[in-house]
Amino acid sequence: MRALPTGFLLHPAAALHDAGWGHPDHQGRLGALASAVSMDMLTLHERVVQLEARSATEEELLPVHTEEHVEQVRSAVDRAMEEERCIPLNLDTLVSGGSWDAAVGSSGAVLAAVDGVARGFVRNAFVATRPPGHHATPARAMGFCLFNHVAVGARYVLDQGLGRKVLIVDWDVHHGNGTQEVFYRDPNVFYLSLHQSPHYPGTGQEWETGAEAGSGTTLNIPLPPGTPRGEYRERFFGVLEDVWGDFAPDWVFVSCGFDVLKGDPLGGQELEPVDLYDFTRAVVALSVPTQGPPVALAGSTGGAAGPGNVSAAGDPGPLTGMRTVLVLEGGYVPELIGAGTVAVLRALAGLEAP
Ligand SMILES: [Zn+2]
Repeated sequence: MRALPTGFLLHPAAALHDAGWGHPDHQGRLGALASAVSMDMLTLHERVVQLEARSATEEELLPVHTEEHVEQVRSAVDRAMEEERCIPLNLDTLVSGGSWDAAVGSSGAVLAAVDGVARGFVRNAFVATRPPGHHATPARAMGFCLFNHVAVGARYVLDQGLGRKVLIVDWDVHHGNGTQEVFYRDPNVFYLSLHQSPHYPGTGQEWETGAEAGSGTTLNIPLPPGTPRGEYRERFFGVLEDVWGDFAPDWVFVSCGFDVLKGDPLGGQELEPVDLYDFTRAVVALSVPTQGPPVALAGSTGGAAGPGNVSAAGDPGPLTGMRTVLVLEGGYVPELIGAGTVAVLRALAGLEAP
């Protein structure tokens, strides 16, 4: 049987978020990503397919974000549209008239990726987002991020009964304080972050390990700037295997930041695209290949939860497959975003490293 392809998702509105060309998250990032992927099409052809993205609804944001936060972003975007200028939400996070569609389009692209993987259309998926998400907390936009796409995706998996335990692996060079905060007390979501420290946003110390029912389901690996590649790789592979064994997830999301690559102006690490290829291969290798019929989604069968179907309220049934979705976070050198994306796409699709 032919292996399923890997899904690639990019909501067209993601390019419309415009913080200005002087901002690190400028509009050229996704253009560079898309052109690198198309340059590699001879290899990726038929092994990577584009899935249509959709926009997340407000109801899909609210399990993660407060109504006040969603409203604050919306009204700032309305104002940006009226006044035809960027509106700052804080020192580093701006919105333009296109930012609402970009942000809900990026969260929605993650949800479309989840659906594509859960239905068995694709074996795994990569989602290009803009603005990024992992610094957005339940109540606050920060660090260029408006809505937390990975958190919205993980919540969706659990709330729709598509999985029981979600692992989030965050290798962006910055600590994903927003994602950590969303799931700090949640025993069903494990947040694992390797990040540079000391560095923005200042969180992600080793003693931050979760609280209450979520005690022990947050693990932070702070690494000094200039950590040698060999050491970085060893820490990653070791900790990934440990967490996997202890937590036994059935879904994994990767907060895939390319600012951990050597040469990124907002980072300070030494990794090369081939390292992220190997990190992705490690995630894929630990995953049990998806077997059996695709899982039907809640609501997709007119609400009738028959055998093998999933109902949001009922038992999800036998979910034997491991489901993997990579989501773009940071990365501020266009060429490195392109090279990194091609590397992780090839790894997801079981192709050789570029
Ligand atoms: Zn980052």
